[in-house]
Amino acid sequence: MKLVTYQFQGETAVGILTPAGDAVHPVPGVSDMTALIARWPELDAAAVCRGDAVPLREVRLLAPIPHPAQDVICLGINFYDHAAESGSVTGKQDNVPKAAIYFSKRVDEAVAPGGAIDSHSDMVRDLDYEAELAVVIGKPAYHVREADALDHVFGYTVLNDVSARTIQAAHQQWYRGKSLDGFTPIGPWIVTPDEFDVTRPARIQSFVNGEPRQDSTIDLLIFDVPHVIAELSRGMTLRPGTIISMGTPAGVGMGFDPPRWLRPGDTVTCRVEGIGDLTNTVR
Ligand code: MG
Repeated sequence: MKLVTYQFQGETAVGILTPAGDAVHPVPGVSDMTALIARWPELDAAAVCRGDAVPLREVRLLAPIPHPAQDVICLGINFYDHAAESGSVTGKQDNVPKAAIYFSKRVDEAVAPGGAIDSHSDMVRDLDYEAELAVVIGKPAYHVREADALDHVFGYTVLNDVSARTIQAAHQQWYRGKSLDGFTPIGPWIVTPDEFDVTRPARIQSFVNGEPRQDSTIDLLIFDVPHVIAELSRGMTLRPGTIISMGTPAGVGMGFDPPRWLRPGDTVTCRVEGIGDLTNTVR
């Protein structure tokens, strides 16, 4: 199923998309995705899908989790092709990490599908995009084995890990350069695991003004989703609603010679096959 957060007639609601994807069934009595995740095990989703539906053209989609309760957990250098690309920029020969690189990204408010990426052009000269597969945790995870890790996933979505490269480099840590307001588009929806098998090699792509930039498959992740959930949950609780962004493949603006930074007016689409397109315009 595809689950959306949206505004309709001034109210924020969550709902289930129709199979055709042209309308949404509101979930009664639940106004945000975190509450829906908590209610999901006992929710009669089939009954919701027999109820009324609102045409999608009449609603405004929001990010599925507009206000994450905690910082998004991100992976750095987690695609083999991006490790080579990034190493060529930084001059590191063997750039494949021996252990997963974790960092976090503050998200005051996630940018909606179709919403604006804030270029912060007064302070950022090297704005970049990163198409990523994001995992949303469904059941609390603590000391979870790799074999059981996917049982703790609520669903999957697309995240654009927008980055200001100079800020990222100046502070020797990714946090600040990736956490500016308007730097985290998420969406367009969460797809539940019955419709998206993360063990299959889904294509992941990005486009800037329609021009292909990134094009890879998620089997090229260096550390896969079960590994990451199992490892993070060793000694650290992952709560329902936690977002883990799995890292980006080659083809980011930084990797071109000369680099190809985003500018106001550019349109960026991040796509994961089987999930959907997340399109935003730089402001
Ligand atoms: Mg990233």
